[in-house]
Amino acid sequence: MKIVRTVAALRAELREARAVRPAATVGLVPTMGALHEGHLSLVRAARRNDDVVVMSIFVNPTQFTEAADLAAYPRQEAGDTALAERAGVDLLFAPEAAEMYREGHATGVHVEGPLTATLEGAVRGSAHFDGMATIVTKLLLAALPDAAYFGEKDAQQLRVVRRMVADLGIPTRIVGCPTSRDDDGLARSSRNVRLSPEERSRALAIPRALEAIASAALLGETRTAELFARGEEILIASGVSAEYLAFVDPDSFAPRERLDGPVLCAVAARVGEVRLIDNVLLGAGATADSDAETIPRTPTKEP
Ligand code: AMP
Repeated sequence: MKIVRTVAALRAELREARAVRPAATVGLVPTMGALHEGHLSLVRAARRNDDVVVMSIFVNPTQFTEAADLAAYPRQEAGDTALAERAGVDLLFAPEAAEMYREGHATGVHVEGPLTATLEGAVRGSAHFDGMATIVTKLLLAALPDAAYFGEKDAQQLRVVRRMVADLGIPTRIVGCPTSRDDDGLARSSRNVRLSPEERSRALAIPRALEAIASAALLGETRTAELFARGEEILIASGVSAEYLAFVDPDSFAPRERLDGPVLCAVAARVGEVRLIDNVLLGAGATADSDAETIPRTPTKEP
């Protein structure tokens, strides 16, 4: 695995790889590091589908709307390098902030409407998705990958990226990958390491609430107000107060009152100082949003 720190070096490496194998496809896995099994599941999906796997590790300052959150974000480059290499990353792009935001940087990507104004956009402020959309665009332009891999754990982010790539005509396939969970059900997150043992056990109320909602939906409850009440009860019993527990159309992110089609149930909650998000897709035969492509069940190309 090679490590590169500049866009020029990344492009040079990819030019060389494409010169050797002109038909080689490139898969990009953008991350903020502090790697865990969730990130590695994205790498494995890329490894199955693409010939050259690029991972980026960049804690993007412009998508953090709280200075304390940015300062506390875990950084562990040495461990990340070993994990990335073992998972099959060919090229690790780990730039400094000054490389991605050169002196005088003045351009941003803004995705308008309910996709960015609701849920994460409402709680964290519009700067969050502006920062995310801008850095993902810059990473896609830097690597020009055939495919880029994102986790369904960040469902709204994935939807915003799909919108932006479609709107800007960026020729990269966006592949959504299922949420990877610890054995006890907690969605894996770089932020989990900041939970104390007591907080971690309280945080389990989040997947439990989502499971209760999903089983009530399976048993035929279609009123989202009822589903909300069941989930909220479980959260409150563990002393977890949700920033939102919302039922939205997975395509438009407009609120939904009934399960008369696929509905995304998304939750954000603070447990102690740590902000966690999770979601579940409800509705018979539910698939994600209209532009969705999820990872194929069987490899489309042998590594
Ligand atoms: P992050 O480093 O948190 O910005 O995440 C980088 C990518 O990994 C994003 O596409 C996330 O959605 C994805 N990701 C993070 N946690 C998980 C998880 N538990 N399961 C699947 N994908 C994840």
